[in-house]
Amino acid sequence: MAQAHHLDRIDRILLWDVTVIGGGIAGLCAAIAARRGGAAVRLLEAAPRALRGGNARHGRNFRLTHETPLDYVPDRYTADELRAELRSVTGDDTDRALTELLIERAHSITGWLVAHGVHLQLPGTGVMPYSRRTAFPLGGGKAMINALYATADRLGIAISYDSEARSLLRSEGGGWTVSVRSAGADDQIRTRSVVVCAGGAGADPAWLRENFGSAAEGWMVRGTPYADGRLLDLLIAAGGCPIGDAATCHAVPVDARGPQFDGGIVTRITSIPLGLVVDRCGARIDVAGAGVLPTHYAKWGPRIAACPGQIAYLVLDARSLARAAPSALAPITAPTISELAVALQLDPAALQASIDHFNAAPANAAHAIAVPPFAAYPMRPGLTFVHFGIKVDATMRVVRADGSRHDDLFAAGMIMAANVLRRGYLAGLGITLSAVFGQIAGEEAARHVRG
Ligand SMILES: Cc1cc2nc3c(=O)[nH]c(=O)nc-3n(C[C@H](O)[C@H](O)[C@H](O)COP(=O)(O)OP(=O)(O)OC[C@H]3O[C@@H](n4cnc5c(N)ncnc54)[C@H](O)[C@@H]3O)c2cc1C
Repeated sequence: MAQAHHLDRIDRILLWDVTVIGGGIAGLCAAIAARRGGAAVRLLEAAPRALRGGNARHGRNFRLTHETPLDYVPDRYTADELRAELRSVTGDDTDRALTELLIERAHSITGWLVAHGVHLQLPGTGVMPYSRRTAFPLGGGKAMINALYATADRLGIAISYDSEARSLLRSEGGGWTVSVRSAGADDQIRTRSVVVCAGGAGADPAWLRENFGSAAEGWMVRGTPYADGRLLDLLIAAGGCPIGDAATCHAVPVDARGPQFDGGIVTRITSIPLGLVVDRCGARIDVAGAGVLPTHYAKWGPRIAACPGQIAYLVLDARSLARAAPSALAPITAPTISELAVALQLDPAALQASIDHFNAAPANAAHAIAVPPFAAYPMRPGLTFVHFGIKVDATMRVVRADGSRHDDLFAAGMIMAANVLRRGYLAGLGITLSAVFGQIAGEEAARHVRG
């Protein structure tokens, strides 16, 4: 079990070599790599222990390259394939050097995670689908996170939960002073270097409103509420150069009845190809080019975000509901379309007209909506991440607006993902990117303090 360290006991005495801010997958990989590089490492996690680990808690799988079948992934998935797929989503608008670094390390990151305690599911032994591009942590993302925390603890990394870094100031004579709020009290940590792994900037409603307008008030945030962008602001205030577009994001349809934050993957609505989607006026809405592929969920998030009230409804009949994946929240059901409309507070005539139109030529894999009972899911856009962050170089050092770089300030994970992903996404890339760049940041920070 990882021990929580109280700030006052150790931090008033010590000058840490490396302080890692954020205990998600990037922060854990950075902390472990720095410790293995010989550094005395402090890890600050804003969330309480039960919610530690950021969004990798919700993760299912992560991408890796391999030339031959491995124990935990069948067939092959080459670096050239990953390069081509990445290019198909990012185009030329990406940092080539960092992209190549990611592709190169996507080969070895799995071995590194396994060597640090992560167990992976063997293909064909569980309930996970065939995938040659991705590996599945055994027990899910939460088990992976727990394993890495156990390793961090065993290596002697000093971990604090409920410990939010609130400011970052240059210390006199070099290094940094990090102000931390922990258990309602403020304290300070002195450190030779800082690795910021505090996640992207999507979980602050005020920030979302500022960048996406008032429509963002109707959104839900699929991940941790603790990744609120404060550290990104602090890095920019420290001269760091922002990168990407603060007004573009990855979003998928989620159940509107789920929690505002941290609903994870279980509130995602995946059965859209089986039915009809209407807006709150009962009018049918569609997305050009969205079919049955899982990657097409991401086309629906922005479409729902553009609907009046940022809400839409998936309507199914008994047959399509029987084919749909089970959902965390049971659908709203009714014996007739007009009763369903009343339950959803939609205009019954408008809904019936949309269904009649749909039934004339059902789209995708759908049936006509004809067999009672009828069912519906209310859906909102669920934000996964924003394509905005801080610029870094190939050592994960934060780059200033004038092109110079901080020697002793590093950033890794979603906070710098926009260096590679300024648009689009590939399934399973978030964890790989965060683990790979976290590991590099930790190695480089340890190298820096060793001189
Ligand atoms: C619902 C969901 C499902 C996903 N599924 C997958 C998947 O299957 N495969 C995949 O590859 N990717 C997936 N992703 C993306 C992936 O989880 C992320 O890319 C990855 O976890 C990012 O890791 P990170 O460490 O950079 O940031 P985060 O996971 O956001 O972690 C940041 C950490 O920093 C802490 N923190 C924030 N501010 C402070 C502060 N001021 N002081 C101290 N600590 C702070 C937070 O508490 C948090 O623990 C998913 C994301 C979501 C939201």
